[in-house]
Amino acid sequence: MKLAGKTALITGAGSGIGKAIALLFAGEGADIAVNDIDLPSAEKTAEAVKKIGRRAIAIQGDVAEPADVDAMVDRVISDLGGVHILVNNAGIPVHGLLLDTQTVENWDRVVAVILRGTYLCSRRVGKWMVANRTGKIVNISSRAGLVGSPTMASYGAAKAAVINLTRSLALDWGKYNINVNCIAPGLIDTPLTRRTIAKDFPPEVVREVVPLGRMGTAEEVAGAALFLASDDAGYITGVTLPVDGGRLA
Ligand code: NAP
Repeated sequence: MKLAGKTALITGAGSGIGKAIALLFAGEGADIAVNDIDLPSAEKTAEAVKKIGRRAIAIQGDVAEPADVDAMVDRVISDLGGVHILVNNAGIPVHGLLLDTQTVENWDRVVAVILRGTYLCSRRVGKWMVANRTGKIVNISSRAGLVGSPTMASYGAAKAAVINLTRSLALDWGKYNINVNCIAPGLIDTPLTRRTIAKDFPPEVVREVVPLGRMGTAEEVAGAALFLASDDAGYITGVTLPVDGGRLA
């Protein structure tokens, strides 16, 4: 088992990619703190983790709110004994043209959840990791953070900032034995994509734009997160790994 004896905090783990990461990490021996803004979904993931035989706690909290993040991390440390792994996964999409539907309010919300959330969770968990001279942080950015994407200006800008935050924290925290890496998923079949862009990507379009000819699965992103959170990636820090079926190629 690759994560035996570790504790992982995964944000936005009530659904999609975060949930798949929670279940895969539990299967590899980690105890899991499941955060989500929606408590019932967090509780469902925590129950599934317990069925795998690991300890799990469900924590409702908005990653964009400093008080929620501080209380969440304090609880993970007191209930599970530490935070060896942090996966900054919570994110929300906003689609629309900048001059049309992208209001100041939804710009601020997208940036707050994606960028400020990653900063707040990394800051609080980083304190524990620095004190304990150990840690793996995996940020879930997006292909949209590496290239421009139509109608996704605020989302893409926030995801690009997460990639740069990853690099800066990797430089600052390398000396404390903390690896900070990032994943840039492409088109992944999750409740989020089914709610938003699935209609723009029928199978014939996906076959045309994705070299591997299909959407990815949440489990395939989780596999990359496991690699970056494990000792297999011990000498890797500051990188962004695309998991996009070859679209960036
Ligand atoms: P998802 O199924 O919607 O899961 C995201 C989870 O995060 C949801 O349970 C959501 O709760 C929760 N959440 C939203 N805002 C939050 C907040 N402020 N604090 C805590 N939790 C919050 O989406 P997904 O597709 O798995 O996406 C996971 C991550 O991958 C996101 O960062 C997304 O941007 C990124 N990503 C996804 C794709 C893709 O194709 N799916 C591609 C590139 C990147 P609610 O449902 O209640 O909002």
